[in-house]
Amino acid sequence: MRIVQKFGGTSVGSLERIRATAKIIQGELNNGVEVAVVVSAMSGETNRLLAMAQEMSSAPSPRELDALVATGEQVTAALLAIELNELGISAYSFSGGQAGFTTEGNHAKARIKDVKSEHLIQHMIKGEVPVVTGFQGVDEAGNITTLGRGGSDTSAVALAVAVQADCCDIYTDVDGIYTTDPRIEPKAAKMDSISYEEMLEFASLGAKVLQTRSVELAMRYDMPIHLRSSFNLIQGTRVSKEDSNMERAEISGVAYNRDEAKVTIKGIPDQPGIAASVFGPVAEADINVDVIVQNVSEDGFTDLTFTVPRHDFAATMTLLDSLCVSMHAKEVRGDNTVAKVSIIGVGMRSHTGVAKKMFDVLAQENINIQMITTSEVKVTVVLEEKYVELAVRSLHQAFGLAQEG
Ligand code: ASP
Ligand code: MG
Repeated sequence: MRIVQKFGGTSVGSLERIRATAKIIQGELNNGVEVAVVVSAMSGETNRLLAMAQEMSSAPSPRELDALVATGEQVTAALLAIELNELGISAYSFSGGQAGFTTEGNHAKARIKDVKSEHLIQHMIKGEVPVVTGFQGVDEAGNITTLGRGGSDTSAVALAVAVQADCCDIYTDVDGIYTTDPRIEPKAAKMDSISYEEMLEFASLGAKVLQTRSVELAMRYDMPIHLRSSFNLIQGTRVSKEDSNMERAEISGVAYNRDEAKVTIKGIPDQPGIAASVFGPVAEADINVDVIVQNVSEDGFTDLTFTVPRHDFAATMTLLDSLCVSMHAKEVRGDNTVAKVSIIGVGMRSHTGVAKKMFDVLAQENINIQMITTSEVKVTVVLEEKYVELAVRSLHQAFGLAQEG
């Protein structure tokens, strides 16, 4: 058995936590498991480093920013290796570049090109522990690059694939993935296992526990993830390939995202190319569009409504105001008090009427649905933000997800 264990910021947030982490690693080694480790920076450290750079300059060089923030992970990797040595374990820290991570050159959001980690396997089969800095690599010219915030998850999965691990254990400060946010619904239950596809939906809906990219990578290479807490020994949530033999509930969970805004261009002269002329400039402005609805045109005019992240609302409105003029549209409207609520589950493929049941539940609560979008394993509605809690709780209840007792 060979695994990669990844420890997030809170799991290595103090010397005390680093000691506890070393003990977890030792436990696996004692079971005869071959282990490589990926670490994040101590919690708060990446932000602290970025704030220092901002004090020096309002526009620090991206190359130097990457060189700066990459140090956070180097500190934890070295400290953890030192602590493992104290326990009598041979351990060696490696920077991303030393561990064989090469990336494209775009700083702060580099994509991994290749992971050449054969030399790490040599350590692992001898019972030694490579401790690799997450979140970083080097580009072709040897510059340090980083993968974007939360990127250590992606490093861990990529390393697990490269060293042909059986599983990637991701240690964090929550026990796993819940059927919904326990802060809204105390009866939310921890899920023992979910599929990659479901995890992808939860992650992209703002369940901040795993970087979305890491789940995409795990799905592509079929690398199971065990998401669990480093603060207890409880089994977490296993993320893996869908098990077709399993009897599935209608849905697995209810997710929501408040970071949403809705914009509408009304009365656009309807002709080929209008969607392209709206979404082209929006994409160029680096604004992520999500739910899109275009009305059937009436008298040659149509309306186009879509959602964007709330922090891009003002920029989107400015952009649309000028598009409105150039496209001869009638007006632009915006609303930044909307939210998204989704039901998620692979069980939807085999159960009929799941969407209808969702709409019934919301209707009973008198919640108005503004937009609807579906995928194979998800139904999402856009609604007024003030209804999020009510919608989440009633859906969780109606679909029988509440934990017994
Ligand atoms: N330290 C980096 C961050 O805070 C990467 C990570 O922790 O995954 O985003
Ligand atoms: Mg993280």
